[in-house]
Amino acid sequence: MTLPEHPIETPPRAPSPVHGFGTLAVHAGSPHDPVTGAVIEPISLSTTFAQTSVGKPVGLYEYSRSSNPNRDNFEKAVAALEHARYALAFSSGSATTANVLQSLAQGSHVISVSDVYGGTHRYFTKVALTHNVHVTFTPNIGDSIADLIRPETKLIWIESPSNPTLSLVDIRKVATIAHQHGILVVVDNTFLSPYVQNPLDHGADIVVHSVTKYINGHSDVVMGAAAFNSTDIYERLSFLQNAIGAIPSAFDAWLAHRGLKTLHLRAREATKNATGVATALEASPLVISVNYPGLPSHPQYSIAQKQHRDGMGGGMLSFRIQGGHEAAERFCQATKIFTLAESLGGIESLVEVPSAMTHAGIAKEAREASGVFDDLVRVSCGIEDEADLVADVLQALEKAAAEPKVSSGLKVAENGRDHA
Ligand SMILES: *Cc1c(COP(=O)(O)O)cnc(C)c1O
Repeated sequence: MTLPEHPIETPPRAPSPVHGFGTLAVHAGSPHDPVTGAVIEPISLSTTFAQTSVGKPVGLYEYSRSSNPNRDNFEKAVAALEHARYALAFSSGSATTANVLQSLAQGSHVISVSDVYGGTHRYFTKVALTHNVHVTFTPNIGDSIADLIRPETKLIWIESPSNPTLSLVDIRKVATIAHQHGILVVVDNTFLSPYVQNPLDHGADIVVHSVTKYINGHSDVVMGAAAFNSTDIYERLSFLQNAIGAIPSAFDAWLAHRGLKTLHLRAREATKNATGVATALEASPLVISVNYPGLPSHPQYSIAQKQHRDGMGGGMLSFRIQGGHEAAERFCQATKIFTLAESLGGIESLVEVPSAMTHAGIAKEAREASGVFDDLVRVSCGIEDEADLVADVLQALEKAAAEPKVSSGLKVAENGRDHA
């Protein structure tokens, strides 16, 4: 099944929620167990469900790949938080991307921001091509999109903020042009979470998440989700979800749903912490520059102001350190609260050096063209205390500036590995 040729009568929107985000996070998709009254849903491990006569299941379920109570409830919660009529959960963020791309007809053309997530770039260039879907990358989609559209362009792929330089895209501006040509707009909203940004409200047709990051938020589940308003998209993507079978387990859906219930609290703390850390870094003579959408110095600060909840910057930032790549490595080894690791969006704060870790697979020239210099450090702020995180960053900067070259060297990620 493929996405429709000219899909863009705007589908009806989800009804405006009566309740605020926190109330929805706690209650959407969380019915009490009708039999026991349990306030928290049980984990439904059964793979199959009894039928009273042939083709007449007792309840809503037949077979767990097709649908499962825990996945259903999680999907309802994600839909509520993204102001969507529908959501679907997948086994990973990458499987979500694959399902969306798989829904395009052979010969389709896609336009993508160039500093897209590494795994998405790999899927676009190494997998989509094999069913004859071609992707054009652009560093400045807001201005270049009109020139890049071809008759066979079917999809625009946006990440805002981008990884790891945190540059923003005006979603409304891109969606307005795309819709004039009958093109769907997808936004990967992983870096901000639905608490900080709701792309469907700015004209996007599909929002995707690596649930692995903020939505689950506890660094213990790999999962993905897509949310949208169109019944047509729902029919096509749920058909593929079942046909391809890249579905999360009941246990993972249950865990991710538990994580989602505190998303608003975590996202607020992470933003507060990142704002404190970014401000301290910007004031330090040991720092060349800071990329954080919550700082007035950010080149697209005005986009953050109109597109993010209360202009929040989110929990992610990156900065260039004085002293080159060695100083960046020393910094990441000198932090005591921030753990040196890939991934993001969990309760714990993390640091990494993109040029040697998450983005090592990209050629140096292409990397630097999008601002990923060897001295760039990426920071994911967790929900520890702001004062402790700021103090940790400042002491690590001093150490990185003072100490001689480290000998160990960070591991260099192999090409083709997963990079979060
Ligand atoms: C991690 C990530 C993905 C991929 O998600 P997985 O759950 O690791 O498959 C996609 N997009 C962004 C922005 C990510 O950070």
